[in-house]
Order: sequence, then structure tokens, then C-alpha cells
Amino acid sequence: MKLVLATSNKGKVKEIKALCKDFEVIPYSELMEEFEIIEDGSSFKENALIKARAVFKALNSDDVIVMADDSGISVNVLDGKPGIYSARHAGKDATDKDNLYKLIQDIKDKNVTSSPAYYTAAIAIVTKNSQYCVHGWMYGTAISEAIGDGGFGYDPMFIPLGYDKTLGELDDEVKKSLSHRAKALGLAKIVLQTL
Ligand code: IMP
Repeated sequence: MKLVLATSNKGKVKEIKALCKDFEVIPYSELMEEFEIIEDGSSFKENALIKARAVFKALNSDDVIVMADDSGISVNVLDGKPGIYSARHAGKDATDKDNLYKLIQDIKDKNVTSSPAYYTAAIAIVTKNSQYCVHGWMYGTAISEAIGDGGFGYDPMFIPLGYDKTLGELDDEVKKSLSHRAKALGLAKIVLQTL
């Protein structure tokens, strides 16, 4: 089954491809020119559906299944921020590195060196006749330094529950077994089998 991904985020595409080996996963940017999608929803679910619907409409074909991932990190000491604003935490055109170091500084500004935190992933699936959204979470600790260069985004500052290393240091296989995205995709695959 062909699955078009409504994202061109390289980190997400790599993880989703590795977790969906039974499907032909194609980022939409390989099928058309990338375009701006205004993510103005008030939840991960709304934003995932906005992205999946926008790409489904743009592809203008009844035969595709579009899947979108909206995700982010919530830090307890920051009252759950950046949450749905994780991609633009350091500003509109911020890079992953800008966002990472801004979040580290925010934690330092609270005069702590770590805080409980969690990642959320909402995965939306849109077809001609149906729209679904499933979620997954990964709990752990956000620390006020970046260690390791594995993963992407905020991974160098996130230690999953039960581990003593960041996702930047841990093997890809560890993240694959416990991530918010892996859990959401586990449910997404059940939905895909019903289509
Ligand atoms: P989105 O593309 O609008 O969903 O933005 C997601 C934001 O959260 C980006 O800044 C990502 O770097 C970050 N993010 C989402 N999932 C992960 C992850 O698994 N590891 C690290 N950062 C992530």
C-alpha cells in the first residue's frame, strides 16, 4: 500500500520509514512542490489533520492515503511548553538546533537542571472517505544540556524513563522500541489494515 507522508522533516521521514516497512512510504515533496501549511489548530490532533487534509487535497487523487505526524515536547517546569509550538519555539524560522538550545536555556532560567517531560505524536490518516487520528506518548526527563547527536530535534536533551542516557546517545533501535511515534504508528497500522 502506498502511503504519502504530509511532511518533509527528514528526522520524521526516516523514523516513519523504519517503522512502516510493510508500506511504500513517500514524502509528499517527492510528488509535488512543497507548500506552506498553516498549522493553526489548538492541539496535536487538529494540526495533524490539517496537514493530512491539505496534502490530500493538493494531490487531487482519490487513490492515495495520506498520513501526517504532528508532534512535540512538553516540559513540566515550563507548564507544558513548548507543546504544539515545538517546531517554532525559538521563532518562526527556527532550526532544530535553535529550538533545542532555547529550550535548554528556558530550563536553566527556572534554576533547575532537569524536569519531567514527555513527547506527544498525533498521526492523522486521510483517505477519500475517511479521516482518523491516533496518539502516542513517551515520558522521561528534559535536561539542561545537549548530549549526543543521534535522533533529531530535542532528542539530545531528552532521557527516556528507565534510561540514563539521552536519545542523542542511545541507539536508534531504543527510540524505535519506545517512542511516541512508534506507539502512534502501532495504532495507525491497525487503522490502515481496516481501509
Ligand atoms: P511538527 O513538524 O510541526 O510536528 O513539529 C515537531 C517539532 O517537535 C519539531 O521541532 C521537532 O524537532 C520536535 N519533535 C517531534 N518529534 C520529535 C522527536 O521524536 N524527537 C525530537 N524532536 C521531536
